[in-house]
Amino acid sequence: MDKNQGMTALPTVLVVDDEKQNRDLLTELLHEDCRVILAKNGNQALERAREQQPDLILLDVLMPDMSGHEVIQTLKNDDATRHIPVIFISALDAPADEERGLDLGAVDYIAKPFHPSIVRKRVRNHLLSVHHRHLLENLAMIDSLTEIANRRRYAEVLESEWRRCARNAAPLSLAIVDVDHFKAYNDHLGHAAGDRVLRRIAQAMNGLLRRPGDLVARYGGEEFAVLLPETDADSGYQIGNELRQQIEALAIAHPASPVAPVITVSLGGMTIVPAGGDVDPRLFSGADAALYAAKAEGRNRAFWRLGD
Ligand code: GH3
Ligand code: MG
Ligand code: MG
Repeated sequence: MDKNQGMTALPTVLVVDDEKQNRDLLTELLHEDCRVILAKNGNQALERAREQQPDLILLDVLMPDMSGHEVIQTLKNDDATRHIPVIFISALDAPADEERGLDLGAVDYIAKPFHPSIVRKRVRNHLLSVHHRHLLENLAMIDSLTEIANRRRYAEVLESEWRRCARNAAPLSLAIVDVDHFKAYNDHLGHAAGDRVLRRIAQAMNGLLRRPGDLVARYGGEEFAVLLPETDADSGYQIGNELRQQIEALAIAHPASPVAPVITVSLGGMTIVPAGGDVDPRLFSGADAALYAAKAEGRNRAFWRLGD
């Protein structure tokens, strides 16, 4: 799932054809339905596909340097591009050619010379499937109660941010946020009121984090995970403490809390400069230990674990 992709943005289609006339024709045909980007050979196609992450690729088969068949094989062997659907557009129209194209992983095959309105409709159909797939992927990553990221999305973003921070030798910070005396809140005011609190806290934290790489996720129950890429321990602690204060400032009455008259949270954080390889479990266990200490010291506070 691409987190920067707005639902209403026009989809992007990459048209790959060595003949200018065909590129012009397809652009003319498709520009109302999508943003068209062009490549005139295989290498350009691979580069644009990786960098611009189009929603669909229309790929010519017969090209001088690298054939469409070679291009699709490279696309399908690359984690960055294998998810992008490819439609072959080819002057080879024997059933064997079509079968070979589909075997290589194309979702469709259009024979040249093509019928413009048919190409347009087929492209529309494929873009609609792409759109539906994105919707489903997004839904599967959202917590239905709070409407923020769920644990699955958290795990996915953690892995990619771990790799990205490792590449940039940048610190990655994680905070775990847990509502104080929430069982007492539920017992006192009911589970439905508790649910509303979780929604408000989640939305408040989500609204406070502005950088594109930051992520707040519902980790489970009344616990949230806050991922802060390229953030060192000092800044992580500051952001964490700010989140805690802002939640207190929501001033949601908690008549049964021995800590404060309002809903409060405790927060534990940890920072690691990732080495390559898998996510180090000490990022989470360190944050969890800090949370435990914040609870033990009286709650409604943020603790940050210093690196080992
Ligand atoms: P502490 O300050 O030590 O964190 O105390 P606590 O009562 O918050 O912690 P505990 O782990 O004992 O209880 C967590 C409570 O959170 C119990 C559970 O009913 C409540 N909770 C977990 N998930 C939900 C939820 O989705 N909705 C509501 N309303 N309550 C939930
Ligand atoms: Mg808890
Ligand atoms: Mg709690």
